[in-house]
Amino acid sequence: MNDKAFVDELLAWYRSSQRDLPWRSDPAPYKVWISEIMAQQTQMDRVVPYFERWMQAFPDIESLARAPEEQVLKAWEGLGYYTRARNLRKAAALVLGEMNGVFPSDPDAIRSLPGIGPYTAGAIASIAFGQAVPAVDANVLRVFARLLNLDRPVTLQDVKKTVYDKVLSLIPVGSPGDFNQALMEFGALVCSRKPDCDACPVRGHCVSLAAGTVAQRPLPAAPREYIRIEMATGLLMHGGRILIQKRRPDDVWPGLWEFPGGVLEDGETPELAVVREYREETGLEVRPVEKIGVVRYGYTKYRVTMHGYFCLPVHDGEPAPDFRAAVDGKFVPPSEFGGYAFPSGHRRIMDLLRRDMRFQDWLSKS
Ligand code: SF4
Repeated sequence: MNDKAFVDELLAWYRSSQRDLPWRSDPAPYKVWISEIMAQQTQMDRVVPYFERWMQAFPDIESLARAPEEQVLKAWEGLGYYTRARNLRKAAALVLGEMNGVFPSDPDAIRSLPGIGPYTAGAIASIAFGQAVPAVDANVLRVFARLLNLDRPVTLQDVKKTVYDKVLSLIPVGSPGDFNQALMEFGALVCSRKPDCDACPVRGHCVSLAAGTVAQRPLPAAPREYIRIEMATGLLMHGGRILIQKRRPDDVWPGLWEFPGGVLEDGETPELAVVREYREETGLEVRPVEKIGVVRYGYTKYRVTMHGYFCLPVHDGEPAPDFRAAVDGKFVPPSEFGGYAFPSGHRRIMDLLRRDMRFQDWLSKS
C-alpha cells in the first residue's frame, strides 16, 4: 500500500461523498459523543431522528446531567442497550460536577467517562478536538482485514493491535477527524459487509482484491454460543387499564417498566408460568384467558422466546398488588403506554396488541 496515495484518495472520496449528518456541520464534543454512542448498534442514517429528538430534549451537557433518569431512558427508547443512556447521563453529571461542565479533550480523560471505550474516545478526540488518535471499530477492522488481506480473525487482540497501529501511522497531519470519519463512512457505504469493489476509490491499494480473497475477509471468528430462554408475560386487565411495574435498579433493564412475568421453570407451560410469576411478584391470582402471541428477540448472549397472554383477576373487586420484585407499579390505560420506557420484548408484545382486534374486547370486559 502506498500510504500517502491511499490517504489522499480516501479523503478526496470522503469530501465528495460524505453523507450530510447533523453533527458533521458542527462537530462539538457533546454532539459527536451522543452521535457515536447512538451509532454503536445502529446505522448512522437511522440515528438522525433519534439524535435530533435528543438534542431538542437535552441540548447540552448540563440539561442531560440534570434530567431525571426516566426522561433520559424515554428519549433513548428504540435504540436498545439502556445502559448506554444511563452512562450518558452519569458522564454528563461527572463533566458538570467535576470538570466545570467542559468536556475533556485528552483521550485518556475522555476514556475515563462512563460508557466511553477506546473507539468512542478516539472518535471524539479526533473529530471534536483534532487529535491524531485512531478510532477503530468493527467497520474499520473489516476494511483493514480486506485492504491488508489479514488471514486471521480481527477479533483477536494482536490483530486488532496491528490494525490500530496501521491506522495510527496513516493519520494525516491536520485532518485526523476527517480521516477517521472517512474510514467509518467508507466502511458503511463502500467496503461494507457486501463490498462494492467496482465503485471503490482505493481499489488500487487493496491486497485482498488483488489476491482474490475479498469474499473470505475478514475471516470469521469462532461462532458465538447463545443461551436460549423461554419467558411468559401477562397483561392483567382491570377496568380498562393494565398492570405495569418498574424494574429494580439492580435488575436486568433497571428502571424500565414491564408487564409482570418471567422465565419458565422446567416442565412448566407458559400459562402456568404467568400464574406463578404473578403470585410471586405481586401476590395476585390471575387467569390467562387468551394468548396474545409469541415474540422472539435477542440481547447480549441470550435468545429469548416470549409468550404473551391476556389475563384477568381471579377474584372480584379492585386488585391490590404487592410489588415484591419491582420498585413501583400501577394500572394504566394503554393510551398512556407511550409515557413509559419498556424493554424490547415487551414493546414487541405491545406491537402485537396494536393489530389485535381482541384487545379492545378484553379491555371492555375487564
Ligand atoms: Fe473493500 Fe473491495 Fe475496496 Fe478492497 S476493493 S477496500 S474489499 S471495497
